Amino acid sequence: MQENLSNGYEEIILVRIGEIALKGANRSKFYNQLIGNIRYRLRDLGRFDIRQSHTRIWIKPKNEIFPAQEILKRVSKIFGIVSASLVRTFVAEPRILREQLLDYANEVISGKDKLSFKIETRRVNKNFPLSSYEVSSAAGSLLLEKFPTVLTVDVHNPDLVFSIEIREKIYLFSDKIDGPKGLPVGMGGKGLALLSGGIDSPVAAWLMASRGMMLDTVYFHTPPYTSSRALDKVIRLSQILSRYLGNHRLYIVNFTDIQLELNDNCRNDMLTIVMRRMMMRIASRLASQLGFKSLITGESLGQVASQTLEALITTEKASEHIVFRPLIGLDKDEITRLSRQIGTYETSIEPYEDCCTVFVSRHPKTFPSVEDAKWAEQDLDINHLITRGLESVTTQEIFLRDHLD
Ligand code: ATP
Ligand code: MG
Repeated sequence: MQENLSNGYEEIILVRIGEIALKGANRSKFYNQLIGNIRYRLRDLGRFDIRQSHTRIWIKPKNEIFPAQEILKRVSKIFGIVSASLVRTFVAEPRILREQLLDYANEVISGKDKLSFKIETRRVNKNFPLSSYEVSSAAGSLLLEKFPTVLTVDVHNPDLVFSIEIREKIYLFSDKIDGPKGLPVGMGGKGLALLSGGIDSPVAAWLMASRGMMLDTVYFHTPPYTSSRALDKVIRLSQILSRYLGNHRLYIVNFTDIQLELNDNCRNDMLTIVMRRMMMRIASRLASQLGFKSLITGESLGQVASQTLEALITTEKASEHIVFRPLIGLDKDEITRLSRQIGTYETSIEPYEDCCTVFVSRHPKTFPSVEDAKWAEQDLDINHLITRGLESVTTQEIFLRDHLD
C-alpha cells in the first residue's frame, strides 16, 4: 500500500462529506473539527497531510507506510463522514489514463472468473480533451477488449464501478466504504448519557453523538445486588462506543445505599419512578459540575411502565437539564437494528441484571403524576441522598481502542 510513484500513481484517501457542507458561515469550523477528529483517530498510524477542498477531504501519507485499509476502517466510524475511497491519482493525460486503468483493472479483477462493471466519469477539468461520455465509452471498450473472458458491462447493477474523476489530476477508484454520516463530534455541545447495561441506552448515546454531541456516560451501580460483571459490561459498552465518541469518561455512582433507603421509605408501586427520579437528580447535578447542558436516556414511549408519557414527565421534572431521548419514537426492532450496526448488541444482551430489574415495583403505577411522586418522596431526605450519590462517584477513563478491533 505504499505511495507508488514508480508506477506513475500516488495513493490517497478521498473522504466525502455530506451535511457539513450545508452549514453556511460555520462551515469552516465544522471542517476544522472534522479534520481534527480524523487527525486524532489516525495519530498512531503515521503522519498524514489532511486537507479539505470543497466538500471533500484528502488524506495523504507523509511517510512511506500507508495503512489504507486500517484508515478506511477508522474513518467509517467518524461522524460527519459520508463515505471514503482509496484512490489512485496520476497525470491528467488520455494515454496515462489508459495505462493506469488497465493496470488497476488487472489488479482489481485478479482471481475473479466473471465480473460485470460500469464506468462513471466526471470531468471537472474542461481542458481535458475528451468529454465524460467519451472517456466512459473509450474506457469501457478498452476493458472489454483486454479482459474479454472476465468482464461484461452492466450499467444498472454492476459488480464493480470504475470511477474516473478528471480534475487537475485524474482520480481513479472502485471501492467506497460508508461513513456514519451526521456531524463531527465536538460541534453539538456536551451531554451526560445515562448508560445502563441494556440495548437502548448505548444506541441513544450514539444517536446524540451522531449529531455532534460530545458525551460522557454515567452508570448507577448497586453492588452486591448487581454484580461486578454488570459494571464490567457497562465499561465494555463504553469502550465500544468510544470508537465513535472518542476518549471519554464513565462516571460510576454507587447507588446501593440510596436504593435501600428508597425501598424502606417509599410506597412499592412508586418505587420505580422514585428511583428514576433519584437517578435524574444525581445525573443532573453531576452534569452541572461538569458544565454539561443536557442528559440523554434510552427511553422510548410506551416501551415499559416507567416510559408512559406521565412517567416520562414525572421523571424529567427531577432534572434541572434538558433530557434528550433520541429513541422516543423508535420501536424495539429499529433500536435493535441500530444496536447491531453500532456493535453494542452482543454485549448488551449478556444476562447481567441491572438495578432496575432487581429493585422493581411489583405493580408499578402506570400513570404517576408529579404530585404522586412528591407524595411518595415525602419521607426521604432528597438532598442528603443526592450528596451521598455524588460523593460515591468514581471515574473510569475510557480510551479509544482502535488496536483491539
Ligand atoms: P436500557 O435498554 O437502556 O437499559 P430500558 O429499556 O431497560 O433501557 P429502563 O430500565 O426503564 O429502560 O431505563 C430507561 C433509561 O434510564 C435507560 O435507557 C438509561 O438511559 C437509564 N438507566 C436505567 N438504569 C440505569 C442505570 N443503572 N444506570 C444508568 N442509567 C440507567
Ligand atoms: Mg435497562
